[in-house]
Amino acid sequence: MMNAAPSSLSGQDVVVVGLGRSGVAAASLCARHGARVVATDSRPLMELSEQARALDATLLVGGHEEVKFNEADRIVISPGVPSLEPIESARAQGVSVIGELELAWSFCSAPVLAVGGTNGKSTVTTLLAEMLAAEFGAVFSGGNLGVPLSEVVEETWDALVLEVSSFQLERAPTFRPAIGVLLNISEDHLDRYDSFEHYAAAKGNAFVNQAGDDTAVLPAGDALCEQQCARGAGKRSYFGNTTASQADYQVADDRLLERSTGHLIDLREVRLFGEHNRLNIAATVAAARAFGTSWQSIEEVLGSFEGLPHRMQWIRCAEGVDYYDDSKATNVDAALCAVQGVKAKRVVLIAGGRDKGGSYAPLAAALASRAGAVIVIGEAAGRIAAAMPDGVELRRAATLADAVLTAAAMATRGDAVLLSPACSSFDQYRSYGERGDDFQQAVQRLTDGVTR
Ligand code: ADP
Repeated sequence: MMNAAPSSLSGQDVVVVGLGRSGVAAASLCARHGARVVATDSRPLMELSEQARALDATLLVGGHEEVKFNEADRIVISPGVPSLEPIESARAQGVSVIGELELAWSFCSAPVLAVGGTNGKSTVTTLLAEMLAAEFGAVFSGGNLGVPLSEVVEETWDALVLEVSSFQLERAPTFRPAIGVLLNISEDHLDRYDSFEHYAAAKGNAFVNQAGDDTAVLPAGDALCEQQCARGAGKRSYFGNTTASQADYQVADDRLLERSTGHLIDLREVRLFGEHNRLNIAATVAAARAFGTSWQSIEEVLGSFEGLPHRMQWIRCAEGVDYYDDSKATNVDAALCAVQGVKAKRVVLIAGGRDKGGSYAPLAAALASRAGAVIVIGEAAGRIAAAMPDGVELRRAATLADAVLTAAAMATRGDAVLLSPACSSFDQYRSYGERGDDFQQAVQRLTDGVTR
């Protein structure tokens, strides 16, 4: 579905809240289209980027006290910003409050494919965009990941593949992707949502405007995802493994089957590790096929795709022990998939960081079933340790570098050492990327013999 025409911003008073990359892109899009823009952030001027400071807008920063929200025609909120009381009261008085995605969407003239879910969005967005680019040419890949849509929406594209987060979908009332993918829904961000149901409903918002010529891609046999996709009228395309007999795209024995044609592709050489990545591939192929991509383009890209850094990234093998960096596993389900999916005799897991309020019980059960070991770090160390049963060997480390040394000493030939923290990184690092880099450096410092 393509949008008819850019919404008219000329002469409007627009307040943009939050001046990270998305907010800056939104503010400058509005200014380019003739709006009078007030740009606000709780951070002081000195903490803002050069791009934010250079905006063609009135900057009211270091708080929002001076902003007259209720006099605006429109308020645009960045995905990272929770709603604030004065914004809610402006909304109650009839001011339109939208997110950056909704703003950018109103300018879209190319078909949009949206990828949502708790885990796997970035991997699937990137892989899908590469497949489409091989077939169709100019394909944008971004949104919640990398470049915000507002930054590029006025350029000419053949298709736009957008990673969409629950935060973005909270305020995107007319968003209607031609193809919407919902990979999974599990506990995450319970520190920001008042209930799991609200979080799931935000993910499902991507589907509500879909009509019969649109497609919803979802996991077969997943009642929660089904319920969310059923809020719209798009055609369904299901992906799954051998337990899901009705899947249109089914993974079995390292092969992917397109049921409608009987076409099979071999996944043995694909460099994406773990069962969850097999499902990610099935979902990606379902979306690519719904968009008319040929098998040639799909197979060519699958054959060369290396995966993204810090997602089950194999680092090295030292003394027969494989080391994986899965620093992007910032919730329990992602870490659970890593523990279940990694091929090894035994898993030595490094977990911890900033706690998000979910339960660690599923992770503890998975480790126990693999007779695994865990080294806990960071603020969440106590909660994770408390969840572990007796059968799981438990250690504590003050830093990630110490945890790597402890893991190396515990692991024996055939084991895997896995950084898959189940927590965000913000207690000790600025980002999951920095945490992953630190892990990789510590692993590279290990030399055979030194640690045992
Ligand atoms: P997102 O953009 O949704 O955070 P990523 O592709 O960056 O997704 O992966 C985030 C984390 O989730 C990584 O640790 C990755 O190994 C894990 N992961 C990827 N796909 C899945 C999946 N389908 N189910 C569970 N975990 C997954």
